[in-house]
Amino acid sequence: MERLLDINNLQISFKTFFGEVEAVRGISFHVNKKETLAIVGESGCGKSVTANSIMKLLPDPPAFYKGGSILFNGEEIITKTEKEMQDIRGKQISMVFQDPMTSLNPTTKVGKQIIEGLMRHEDISKEEAMKRAINILDLVSVPKPETRVNQYPHEFSGGMRQRVMLAIALVMHPQLMIADEPTTALDVTVQAQILDLMKDLQEKFGMSIILITHDLGVVADMSNRVCVMYAGQIMEQGSTESIFNNTLHPYTRKLLLSVPRLDMNKEEKLHAIHGTPPDLYIPPKGCPFFDRCDEAMKICEEHPAPVTSHEEGHTCRCWLYSDEYKEVLHHGN
Ligand code: SF4
Ligand code: MG
Repeated sequence: MERLLDINNLQISFKTFFGEVEAVRGISFHVNKKETLAIVGESGCGKSVTANSIMKLLPDPPAFYKGGSILFNGEEIITKTEKEMQDIRGKQISMVFQDPMTSLNPTTKVGKQIIEGLMRHEDISKEEAMKRAINILDLVSVPKPETRVNQYPHEFSGGMRQRVMLAIALVMHPQLMIADEPTTALDVTVQAQILDLMKDLQEKFGMSIILITHDLGVVADMSNRVCVMYAGQIMEQGSTESIFNNTLHPYTRKLLLSVPRLDMNKEEKLHAIHGTPPDLYIPPKGCPFFDRCDEAMKICEEHPAPVTSHEEGHTCRCWLYSDEYKEVLHHGN
């Protein structure tokens, strides 16, 4: 499989008045052409920071790239200038956010918002661009697109606004679409419709998707592979099938227990994960999940867990699967 995006040991920090916050602490993953990779985790785990870093959309300062690399089609993103990024954003990589009301401009007609990027990137007339806008609205199943292009965002329902966001993200046929909690603000039925639509469009355009979500239910249905993030690190990654059927990391297991299932009986309860993630001003010395883990051992508190490899690219960052502790203990710690 051909790789579209290759992220290696990426580290991103924020400089604040109180010191440095290490939001992303050495993550590595890749996205193949035409596949969907899900990045899952609770809020504040670094998944949105990761997404924004791929587009170079983090405010600098206070955010800065501390190390590692982001290769897109083999080219380093981190060293690109703002001008070079403007050629990439929208055209090669696009983004869809959680709340269309804040990402759409309330005072500009929807059609104009769809063609803005097109007019900037392509040498076409306004009429041609507007035709493309109408076509793309039709493709994302917005009824009466000829009329809709002349309306403002507030004239659309939540689900329809998210379709408009998809239209804006897709109008230039990007190779990668990053969707950050694209359906979180929508009710369940509309959510399912939007996710189905995303799958159809992916097929049609042959693009890759990074789907950022806190909802493992969404992941099962949408993604080929999964990265589970916690406290700025990837705790576990693998094919969706092996993450669900052969869950290794205690955190992933807890996440799975907190997802409602259709076949649940009334007596079964959802398990909330007790406690809160660690403060990344002072990252913990050992495993960041230590305080919340039912399987924690003594070694976990003091020593960062090594990453172990399992079948078919499944990896896990947890002391339960490593023999290295013998070495660590042997060296007198
Ligand atoms: Fe739990 Fe230890 Fe594994 Fe961390 S390294 S998840 S504390 S068992
Ligand atoms: Mg977020």
